[in-house]
Amino acid sequence: IFLPHLMASMEVEESYIMIKPDGVQRGLVGEIISRFEKKGFKLKGLKLFHCPKQLAEEHYKDLSSKPFFPKLITYITSGPVVCMAWEGVGVVASARKLIGATNPLQAEPGTIRGDLAVQTGRNVVHGSDSPENGKREIALWFKEGELTEWTPVQTPWLVE
Ligand code: UDP
Ligand code: MG
Repeated sequence: IFLPHLMASMEVEESYIMIKPDGVQRGLVGEIISRFEKKGFKLKGLKLFHCPKQLAEEHYKDLSSKPFFPKLITYITSGPVVCMAWEGVGVVASARKLIGATNPLQAEPGTIRGDLAVQTGRNVVHGSDSPENGKREIALWFKEGELTEWTPVQTPWLVE
């Protein structure tokens, strides 16, 4: 159903999506990017990057008291990651749906983790959990000049 009042109140958001080192090592970069691309979101930033420990710790600072935190930092810094900034109305929640549950064994088939992973500690991809964190994480992972403003030609075929 068409809900014009709802559409008008929906805001363009940004989500920080990151292919973790296992996704890169397993050759899943194209497959994972493709899912966001095909859905119709707009890519604004993209780079391959081997992240320093300090940045990984800042990114996951809310989890610093968890028992798995040291292993998580080792994992994220164990090889290059693919950093991405994606934009769109509702992109934050939608990307979380495309990614699937944190534990890949509980993630639905059809989701990235549901299709491509078996363990929480090797769950191939990160996605921001709120629009605020989307902004925070993109600012953390990208420097000025690394993001591109553009209008994909497909836009009028995606939104009326
Ligand atoms: N993680 C882990 N063990 C756990 C929970 C989380 O290794 O018991 C890792 C996993 O890589 C996860 C990340 O920490 O993706 C961040 O956890 P969060 O709960 O934010 O999950 P996400 O938002 O990535 O689904
Ligand atoms: Mg999270």
